[in-house]
Amino acid sequence: MSGGRRRTRPSPARSANARVQAGKINRRRHLMPKCGAHAKTTGLPCQQPAMGNGRCYFHGGATPKGDGRWHRPIWPKMDTPEGIARFYKKGAELTDRNKKREREAKQRSPTQVAAYERWRATHAPTTAAHRAALREARRQAAQAIDVLKASSASPARSVDASAREAEIIDLRAQIRFWDREIEIAENWNTGVFA
Ligand SMILES: [Zn+2]
Repeated sequence: MSGGRRRTRPSPARSANARVQAGKINRRRHLMPKCGAHAKTTGLPCQQPAMGNGRCYFHGGATPKGDGRWHRPIWPKMDTPEGIARFYKKGAELTDRNKKREREAKQRSPTQVAAYERWRATHAPTTAAHRAALREARRQAAQAIDVLKASSASPARSVDASAREAEIIDLRAQIRFWDREIEIAENWNTGVFA
């Protein structure tokens, strides 16, 4: 941490007001919803006051979620001197991080590079719409099997038994394929170097 800026003491009125507000929050604290995220420090649920999404700032507040927002820097507002300082600090930190990443990439062995490229080919970032389409394809294949099985129970629809059996086998293979695709789409951010 830099800590370069000299702190000025708040006025007595301001300190008193802060104490009143903190007291109000502390009296309600035990009634507030708690963050249930697994805390690495204790191994227990986090217990910090939760925000609207059910997680505290540390477990669900800082990282943007949603399609296209993942890993996009959120820049501090530059409307105060502190904001401008934070903006440039963040820029410097991101530059350092990228340089470190490049250095680490150069140090990888050919085997590690090959493993990484194999992983990357199947682990591109996916969108919610893409994952929903995969699940829908799987659902339709499963439904088709149910329809075929139901038709065997009804003598009116005399579908050839062996053709039906072949079709069910084919649909089951499709379901296995969709299951694998869904697994890949949902786990794209699990790294190989972890
Ligand atoms: Zn938490």
